[in-house]
Amino acid sequence: MEKSIFQRIIDREIPSQIVYEDDKFIAIRDIAPKAPVHLLLIPKQFSSRLDEIADAQHMGELFMTANRVAKEHLTDYRLVVNVGAGGGQVVFHTHIHIMGGWEDRSEAE
Ligand code: ADP
Repeated sequence: MEKSIFQRIIDREIPSQIVYEDDKFIAIRDIAPKAPVHLLLIPKQFSSRLDEIADAQHMGELFMTANRVAKEHLTDYRLVVNVGAGGGQVVFHTHIHIMGGWEDRSEAE
């Protein structure tokens, strides 16, 4: 099977801006940010989409790590996972979008 673009990033075959890495996950800056801060948290253990993950511990670690990485950059943030083409997924290697850095809108609401 051909490597996903994120697998090639994990394997250092293509460059990226890495903001976090441990033995199970890597977080990079999105190449086409849709928010002032836009990171991607990617599990090294391959799954093509979130609903393929059957291991509750892995799923838990994924979201625990997403929160931890998000809090290194942001106070408030949005976590987004696109699941399947109909859900907007383009890269079929599971990842969580960590987005934030918009101005504080609480005053306006
Ligand atoms: P969508 O593009 O609809 O958000 P995904 O949820 O599959 O689809 O997200 C893939 C994300 O990966 C996009 O935000 C895209 O900008 C980002 N991306 C693609 N290639 C790279 C790359 N080489 N380095 C960093 N981010 C990338």
